[in-house]
Amino acid sequence: MIRGSCLCGGIQFEYSRAVTPIGMCHCSQCRKVSGAASNAVIVVPEGDLKWLRGEDLRQVYAKPTGWRTTFCRTCGSSVPQLLPTGGAYWVPAGVLDDDPGLRVGGHIFVASRASWDEIAGSAPQFQEALPGRTKR
Ligand SMILES: [Zn+2]
Ligand SMILES: [Zn+2]
Repeated sequence: MIRGSCLCGGIQFEYSRAVTPIGMCHCSQCRKVSGAASNAVIVVPEGDLKWLRGEDLRQVYAKPTGWRTTFCRTCGSSVPQLLPTGGAYWVPAGVLDDDPGLRVGGHIFVASRASWDEIAGSAPQFQEALPGRTKR
């Protein structure tokens, strides 16, 4: 099991299986949410993630476009949220307490990255979403 928690510890979860490497999203919404150059997320099937505490501390903010983020009501940390299609969670890699044993698999929305964002590493870069995926 890989465990994760928010900054205040009010929300804790664990998961048994991730089905993607770490995806780095450089879009403007993810920059706002993370306060950083990009958001780091992995995808975990819904049935493979278990909330250990604080499930009721989760708060959702949705833009009029439908773009959503889920965070801890107490400390503001990003926490796992269900994909719009359901069935799986986006899990913010930065809130994991254990080493997920994953590496960065790719960068998306590179075309809208911040001017000061220097992308390191050799993972593939996509100007927009992955083919066949909608914008997060
Ligand atoms: Zn918290
Ligand atoms: Zn994004």
